[in-house]
Amino acid sequence: MRSIRLLAPGKLEMRDIPDRISATETTVQVDVSACGICGSDLALYNGRRDLSREHYFGHEFSGIITDAGKGANGLRSGMRVASELVKGCGRCWFCRNGLQNYCKSLNDALFPGGFTEKTLVTNTEAYGFLSPIPSVLDDITATLMEPANCAFHVAKRAEIKPGDSVLIFGLGAIGLIASQILKSLGAGKIVGADRSELRLAQVRKSGLLDVVNTNDADWLEQIKEMTAREGVDVVVEATGAPAVLQDAMSAARTGGRIVVPSVYFNSIDGFKPLPIMRKELTIIGSKGPAPLLKSDGTSAVVDKVIELKSALEKMITVYEYKDALQAFEDARNGSAIKAVIKF
Ligand SMILES: [Zn+2]
Ligand SMILES: [Zn+2]
Repeated sequence: MRSIRLLAPGKLEMRDIPDRISATETTVQVDVSACGICGSDLALYNGRRDLSREHYFGHEFSGIITDAGKGANGLRSGMRVASELVKGCGRCWFCRNGLQNYCKSLNDALFPGGFTEKTLVTNTEAYGFLSPIPSVLDDITATLMEPANCAFHVAKRAEIKPGDSVLIFGLGAIGLIASQILKSLGAGKIVGADRSELRLAQVRKSGLLDVVNTNDADWLEQIKEMTAREGVDVVVEATGAPAVLQDAMSAARTGGRIVVPSVYFNSIDGFKPLPIMRKELTIIGSKGPAPLLKSDGTSAVVDKVIELKSALEKMITVYEYKDALQAFEDARNGSAIKAVIKF
């Protein structure tokens, strides 16, 4: 079976590996149709995350169940599914304290992950990592279920109120998907900010958001003119660059909220935390994916992805399997917002 393997940082290889996979008591087997490249995959590729500690590669995938194992959570052979976190055990300290996203991680769930043609996925009465894909949703858009879950978690952590102004720093997939979810939940004016000319041009062309270039000397003035003079109600800091947290504190209004889904690897030189007290800022971490379920127990993220399908499609660049290495290159240099590889 076909597999994109990361041998060492910067060293990707496409290889045919023996197909010795079969579902067990605690897993189902999924034949992958497509898998998106996440910032965390790029962090492994770039050597910013420790490859030896990860059990899987690729976690934003869709596919078809070819062996449902014991069939927990209603999963059956032949079902189309996409990855996301849907169920924690409900018994551990995290689950009992509203932190189901810390119960079990994708690292406990995917063997070897979505960059291989067939993968096993943990599925038991206690843990669920797959959602069925309704027929109105294609396999490519469905790969956005996991990042949409993370972005939905950002919106939940933002506790958005009708009419709240929003500033999104970092126009990668999470920032952009979060902007669309926040809009759908009633946010008022939403502005995107980035310093990459390439990314700004892509977003302008997509028509998804009004944008500001943070290289402009008057970027803060521009944002305040577009939102409100007092500053922005909710700031989402999704760049991954710690120094931008300072800009987020400048842009937030007094009493504003700053949500941080960024994975920071570096420290901040000259960080000035005074505005946290002076402006009574609330700084909130957001670690997705997290189970986001409707009262009938099925995924709320699926409905949101269907609702936002036409906006989400604008973020995707599709690559055939043979062009997988190009997909990683384009994801790395920013020319693809969300690169999705088709198996
Ligand atoms: Zn991801
Ligand atoms: Zn738990």
